[in-house]
Amino acid sequence: MSGWPISYNDLIPYYEQALDVCEVDTGGLGLQAFDKNFKKSSQLASQSEKFINKNFFFSPPTRFGKRYKKELEQAKNINCYLNATVTTITGSNGEISQLSGVSSAGKPFSIEASTYVLATGAIENARLLLTNKLANSSDFVGRCFSDHNGEMVAAAVLDGNNKYFNHDIQINSRKGQLLPEKTLIMPHLSFADDIIIENKLINFGIAIELSYRVGSTSDSVMSLRHFETGKKVDLFNILVRMENTPNPNSTIKLINSRDIYGMPRIKLDWQPNRYDFESLLKIRDIFSKEVLNRNIGRVQWKQVDPSQLQQSASIQAHHLGTTRMSDNPELGVVDENLRCHDHSNLYIVGSSCFPSFGFASATLTIVALALRLVDKLSTN
Ligand SMILES: Cc1cc2nc3c(=O)[nH]c(=O)nc-3n(C[C@H](O)[C@H](O)[C@H](O)COP(=O)(O)OP(=O)(O)OC[C@H]3O[C@@H](n4cnc5c(N)ncnc54)[C@H](O)[C@@H]3O)c2cc1C
Repeated sequence: MSGWPISYNDLIPYYEQALDVCEVDTGGLGLQAFDKNFKKSSQLASQSEKFINKNFFFSPPTRFGKRYKKELEQAKNINCYLNATVTTITGSNGEISQLSGVSSAGKPFSIEASTYVLATGAIENARLLLTNKLANSSDFVGRCFSDHNGEMVAAAVLDGNNKYFNHDIQINSRKGQLLPEKTLIMPHLSFADDIIIENKLINFGIAIELSYRVGSTSDSVMSLRHFETGKKVDLFNILVRMENTPNPNSTIKLINSRDIYGMPRIKLDWQPNRYDFESLLKIRDIFSKEVLNRNIGRVQWKQVDPSQLQQSASIQAHHLGTTRMSDNPELGVVDENLRCHDHSNLYIVGSSCFPSFGFASATLTIVALALRLVDKLSTN
């Protein structure tokens, strides 16, 4: 499968703006906060050239409806209709001519415009297109559905004399979330790029959460097994957040049952590739060997084979991939500018357009893509 037809560099200016829109406080560093200051921030990362940190930054959170309501109300060039559900998109000869639907009070409406942007989330984008038989000459609408797996896969005993988080980040009382002055950060450990490439690994982040302070090895059966008596150890839970590779057989399909608007409901058949779980097993292996080799801890992984992991994978509510971006119209639904291959005046924005997924939350990239689309549309 093809990857992104645009590069990270194409998105940099929009990521910078997206940080502001989402009100992510990076202490004025912008994207540099992701690249420089925090790559070796935890002690584990600084103790091994194999490890780096990839950290999640949080917004306050910013509720867009509340935060930007006033701007929308005051904008002279925007009419915003709330509680209005689009059910029908009409198109012919490669062009969309009308949207119609119904208000929550049951009042029908229709809208005509020169350009249409579909931004209803990764499941609804696909459902609207499938329902209205649009944008699907490639048969890719609803395919490559993905989410992010997040699997609590291990317990670790790590040397209690080390602090395994950033030296200038204090452990917040909320489990797993760390606080450097103002900014809320969730640290993840990953591998240096050359190790990921050499081992053909998916992208991932390991969140290491303090489970409890053991104090001394005599307190814990696990630690007795692994450390000499008297050595201070702490017990951690390990969560691996992982990317899934795109799978065209992972689908959203319409079913016969209908919702209150008369729209077909969907059946979700999420099928992570076996490759992803084999990759996870390699990640576990490399991680625990490195921790062992450096004598900074011991890791006890859940004993599972890939098929079991596939069944037990938990989801993170990050819907992805159902209208994928591709410069080849046979392998996707939208082009590099988010314009539908099949309809010259229909654009789609959202994580439905991601051709590959990474392991990080999707919203910053969704906002960056939306800002880029605004730029393109306003200069057309
Ligand atoms: C519990 C939870 C926690 C999450 N945590 C995080 C997180 O920490 N970080 C992060 O980055 N992401 C997180 N996400 C994911 C994040 O919410 C999504 O990535 C993001 O909201 C997607 O943005 P969007 O604008 O594409 O779609 P949405 O936010 O889903 O917006 C789509 C809009 O379209 C409207 N709509 C849908 N269908 C129609 C229709 N037929 N007619 C008219 N309007 C319609 C919907 O009402 C909605 O307002 C989380 C999601 C969940 C559920």
